[in-house]
Amino acid sequence: MDRLPAVSGSDLACWRTRARQQAMAAGIDPTEVDWLLREGAGLDTLTLRLGTFASRPQVLLERPLAELDRLWQRRVSERVPVQYLIGQTPWRDFTLHVSPAVLIPRPETEELVELAIATTCGRPDLARGHWADLGTGSGAIAIALAAALPSATIHATDIEADALKVARANASTAGVGDRVRFYCGSWYEPLAHLRGRLSGCVSNPPYIPSHEIDCLQPEVARHEPRRALDGGVDGLDCVRHAIATAPSYLHAGGVWLCELMAGQAPTVLQLLVANGSYNDTRSAYDLAGIERVVLATRR
Ligand code: GLN
Repeated sequence: MDRLPAVSGSDLACWRTRARQQAMAAGIDPTEVDWLLREGAGLDTLTLRLGTFASRPQVLLERPLAELDRLWQRRVSERVPVQYLIGQTPWRDFTLHVSPAVLIPRPETEELVELAIATTCGRPDLARGHWADLGTGSGAIAIALAAALPSATIHATDIEADALKVARANASTAGVGDRVRFYCGSWYEPLAHLRGRLSGCVSNPPYIPSHEIDCLQPEVARHEPRRALDGGVDGLDCVRHAIATAPSYLHAGGVWLCELMAGQAPTVLQLLVANGSYNDTRSAYDLAGIERVVLATRR
């Protein structure tokens, strides 16, 4: 076995201090340096917190300090999200693999998942049914549903084959690979065999208005997949498509849930009512007080 690269504790401490200063000067959270040292070099949290490594003659790293520094410089100068640099992110109880082919799953999306799971309380037909996650990206939503609903089957679609590779790997690492089926295609296109049979349709679609994307922080605007963000002129292109299409896939009493950005829920609630196929339409707020998720039931 190759020996792990070693560095003197004082060199590592100096590097870390400098990296933290660079972070603060660039408006980046300095704790990201420790995240990189932990996930990218194998240092443990306690060692990092106590700082005891600084007095050691040698510290073993899982990759050379020069390589960590190259990664960190990409973080600071190119604004690459640290999750892409280390190839993973924590989300709910999972550690999900992420690459620039997929959106980095956000805490807000946990709200959508919680609500989807809550709809199954007292509804064994939903808990045992078929669910679709449209635009699955890293597979986050599909995997969380599969883990929480052990009798359900989840059908996850994405138009990007590279995203599906990430999602498949995540599902198998999470131990739910046998209950999530992945399909390459646009929205409902690959799910024709499930017409009228879905118990739930869930999505965190691209919902940012096209002209607002370049105003987002550079980590998002420059590095996350545009296709995962861009919702057209008013951000609702995919949402309108989903509202129009879902009724032919959901069985009566099936549920539709969608994540949105601030300010979109009133319009989406109106679209659902105007469609005529849904009832019990409502919205829910995230922890930041934003009306984040819209729910409806198929009549
Ligand atoms: N479903 C994935 C997530 O919520 C991807 C969403 C997207 O790419 N718009 O993270």
